[in-house]
Amino acid sequence: MNKKTIEDIDVKGKKVLVRCDFNVPLKDGKITDNTRITAAMPTIQYLISHGAKVILCSHLGRPKGEVKEEYSLKPVAEELTRLLGIDVKFATDITGESAKSVTNSLENGQVALLENVRFDPREEKNDDTLSLELASLTDGIYVNDAFGTAHRAHSSTEGVAHHVKEAVEGYLMQKEVKFLNGALENPEKPFIAVLGGAKVSDKIGVIENLLDKVDEILIGGGMSYTFLKAKGYEIGDSLCEEDKIEEAKTIMEKANKAGVKIVLPIDTVIAPVQEETDESLDKKAKQKAFFAFLEKSEDKVVDSDKIEKGWQGCDIGPRTAEQFANELQKAKTILWNGPLGICEVEKFSVGTEKTAEAIAKTDSVSIVGGGDSVAAIKKLGLESNFSHISTGGGASLELLEGKVLPGIACLTDK
Ligand code: AMP
Repeated sequence: MNKKTIEDIDVKGKKVLVRCDFNVPLKDGKITDNTRITAAMPTIQYLISHGAKVILCSHLGRPKGEVKEEYSLKPVAEELTRLLGIDVKFATDITGESAKSVTNSLENGQVALLENVRFDPREEKNDDTLSLELASLTDGIYVNDAFGTAHRAHSSTEGVAHHVKEAVEGYLMQKEVKFLNGALENPEKPFIAVLGGAKVSDKIGVIENLLDKVDEILIGGGMSYTFLKAKGYEIGDSLCEEDKIEEAKTIMEKANKAGVKIVLPIDTVIAPVQEETDESLDKKAKQKAFFAFLEKSEDKVVDSDKIEKGWQGCDIGPRTAEQFANELQKAKTILWNGPLGICEVEKFSVGTEKTAEAIAKTDSVSIVGGGDSVAAIKKLGLESNFSHISTGGGASLELLEGKVLPGIACLTDK
């Protein structure tokens, strides 16, 4: 069943709540990348030009149900004001006195932004009382344009839809679903998936769902070593999920039966393992220390079946990058998720960047998701060479696993 769209409803003079994904990176209170805000512009501009009273809401970061100034959406209101060229009113709460007064004072074509919905502990619990309060700010119309949180059933992403007359998807949501579902349902062949990132466990569902759709899967990054070990290769101290080795074997057997070619790295850039880690550090600080160690460590390229003990795979090697590029050349549809090496460290981002360049050169429908792959594309200035850059890493993975996303399922059918 097709979902209703904004165009199917009369929004003129009506208070419309739009859930956006304004979860932007901030440094010292300044937005360092406004992509997620610009991505929401088509929906907001449509509503403004059709005379709606636009009420925007979003989360930012993980304040865990508490009011934390550093996660305030105030800088986003300022950025919206700049981008839209009209004064965007800011409510200092979510459904309280400020929100009521700001939203009730809106004239047709005006815009307001509510404070971070995750300041309210009820949001992530999908508490119906908050969903009702959000719905009561509107004239019965809700638009979900937050693809990045569509895999979460929260009050502002799912619950509220049950308390309004019309719940529809915004243009960003529509575009994300169109590209991702289009690749799954009707891809032009050859269809090649490129998967990287740290963990096999995060991508097993995706691989399973892709096996009867793709022609090839190119695997790199931390997840490749579990596959290499499953093939009996010596992977030294590379990242490996021991409890997923059997599953990796099964996937390779299934792929073989389905005629899907799985391409694993033939060579690998390796570095020595960090001998000591300061156990008193928290997870983030440990990761920072790990990257600092790698920046200075020696590195060398070896065949992927000859990684010695005491060494770890950090990036696909040059021959693999070339092989991936050759395979990708023939693709008509490409889906890419996850970096092919420890891309936070400059010298181990080569494989990821070479793959981004190879995909950019093709004339395929190219769809990419996941923060690190997208960051590599942006760093190289190749955004315009990709057909679709997804704004939702987790949500796109769940969609690719074939799951129904609650933030979409709750919307009104035609
Ligand atoms: P994901 O969130 O699953 O897309 O994984 C992204 C993370 O995978 C990044 O932080 C990378 O540093 C990490 N990663 C990629 N390749 C490797 C590798 N060979 N060893 C360890 N971590 C890796």
